[in-house]
Amino acid sequence: MKPQTLRFGDLRLAGVSRAGVETWLRVNPPGLAFDVGRGSLRLAGTRDLFVSHGHLDHCLGVPYVLSQRSLHQMEATRVFCPAEIVDDLGALVEAAARLERVDYDYELLGLAPGDRVEVGKEMAVETFRTDHVVPSLGFHLLQRRRHLRPELRGLEGTELARRRAAGEEITETREEVALTYCGDTGPGVFSSEPRVLAARVLVVECTFLGGELRDKGSRYKHLHVDDLADVATALACDELVLIHLSRRHRPEELRREAERRLPAMAGHIHVLIGEGDD
Ligand SMILES: [Zn+2]
Ligand SMILES: [Zn+2]
Repeated sequence: MKPQTLRFGDLRLAGVSRAGVETWLRVNPPGLAFDVGRGSLRLAGTRDLFVSHGHLDHCLGVPYVLSQRSLHQMEATRVFCPAEIVDDLGALVEAAARLERVDYDYELLGLAPGDRVEVGKEMAVETFRTDHVVPSLGFHLLQRRRHLRPELRGLEGTELARRRAAGEEITETREEVALTYCGDTGPGVFSSEPRVLAARVLVVECTFLGGELRDKGSRYKHLHVDDLADVATALACDELVLIHLSRRHRPEELRREAERRLPAMAGHIHVLIGEGDD
């Protein structure tokens, strides 16, 4: 499947996502991947891979991407994953390297909720716990921006320049959640990590629709559109990107239902699946 692309201001997203098939999302800037799916050549240029959990539709591609990157002699890859799965993911990667009789140039680093990784100029990734059936993490992409200090607002440009020349600090750095990627999760994430609701761009799964699938979501720790409707009034993101839709639903069905259930988000709901056949 070809990636689907979305652009929000200076953030460019490209990815593929279907429940049980594969999920990966590339985010530029800074040029990292949240999950790796079953592996795509389109991730070969990505140095930082953040794996949300050990289900193969999200992480099987790690050895493939490392293989491609070593073939093209690219800089060392950093692979991040929940600390609980670092040994098993490491064993999978090492088995692949032995099969190929090559050494992959990579670092595998386990993360706990609340950990932070610098990923580029003025950007960092911070982890949080999600609500899934295996150890799992979600990721906030934080962007630091310099703003004029609030008490100086309204001053003339010449006055600001004079103060700066005199050595006064006229700006301050603020950090905002530019994007949140939740990986696979049940609705528990909305209470354990309410910051996800206020990300500028929220990428969250919505696997199921319809009354008869209501229980499936809670059993397998996936979101049903009803779970999103339950947090509709608390949702403060600018853009909502829905991923991980079950193959039994069409993207148009989800978009229509989400627009109906989340009327305040109308026009800002995107369903990311990928392009072409699975
Ligand atoms: Zn999944
Ligand atoms: Zn999963």
